[in-house]
Amino acid sequence: MEEVKPAREMWGDKRYHSLDYELKKIYGQKIYKLSLNGGMSCPNRDGTIGRCGCIFCSEGGSGDFASSPLRSITEQIADAKALIAPKLSGRKDCRYIAYFQAYTNTYAPVSYLEKIFTEALLHPEIVLLSIATRPDCLGEEVLTLLAGLNKIKPIWVELGLQTMHPKSAKFIRRGYPLSCFEEAVANLHALGIPVIVHSILGLPGETREEMLQTIDYLAGLPIQGIKLQLLHILKGTDLGDLYESGKIKDTLPLDEYIDIVISCLERLPQNIVIHRITGDGPGRLLLAPLWSKNKKLVLNSIHKQMKTRDTWQGKECKSFILSESKIGKSEIGKRGEGGVP
Ligand code: SF4
Repeated sequence: MEEVKPAREMWGDKRYHSLDYELKKIYGQKIYKLSLNGGMSCPNRDGTIGRCGCIFCSEGGSGDFASSPLRSITEQIADAKALIAPKLSGRKDCRYIAYFQAYTNTYAPVSYLEKIFTEALLHPEIVLLSIATRPDCLGEEVLTLLAGLNKIKPIWVELGLQTMHPKSAKFIRRGYPLSCFEEAVANLHALGIPVIVHSILGLPGETREEMLQTIDYLAGLPIQGIKLQLLHILKGTDLGDLYESGKIKDTLPLDEYIDIVISCLERLPQNIVIHRITGDGPGRLLLAPLWSKNKKLVLNSIHKQMKTRDTWQGKECKSFILSESKIGKSEIGKRGEGGVP
């Protein structure tokens, strides 16, 4: 009989269900992300919803690591591979995720989306597509396209919710209500397309309790992954201006961030894959918190603290009965049992 491992040993050397662990389990090897740029804009920037964008969004539309949209997708894949080549020590059998990261990657005519997504999907070294977008840019035609492509290779959709709280959503100028997000999650779930949600920790004015409320809320939805992102205040953003003019003073200190991230992990169901537990912004633009530049230190501190506390993902997770109103009628049931399996 197969030995049942305690939860703290379920995911290799980590106490949470990391993306790295999940990809190695599925593909038998490490899978690398290639940031691509489909050359799209964002309705929150082009005047359709707003002109200024989300308050934290950099000029690159949160896609500062992607290459030029003037290059074809195949050329961008080659560029992005060359960028990470030094990490791969000459390995020839690498496989990659095509990550459409900059701006809103379903904000274009469906024929164009089909062209660029298909070009990426058909690349022999690409195992799946991850598409970052807004929930208000997932109309019926786009969903039909994604569902069709999902039959060729897996498609993931990343949604930047950031917070469940209307006052914070207003402050960051997110530009859509929670109901819009819930509808998108339900639609994607009904089509069998995995959803990864971005949640920002450390938004100005949000308490620890409010951050955890967002996590509890997400824990009850049919999502497959989450990015826990430390708020990065970047130069050249409206948030950066507020910070530089002294209107925003406090950012999370490292020890507080570690404590909050661990509490988030404890509350998340064990089947939700953790895609990120740190910030993700270009170091050259970072104004605060500066400690986050040392990513290794942040990650090591989280791992060490989880061991010291003898805790793990899902330890404090309650059972969730998914309600019809939240997820549509396709999945009603119990999930997210916490504690030791
Ligand atoms: S939705 Fe994304 S791309 Fe658009 S303004 Fe907000 S962060 Fe930037």
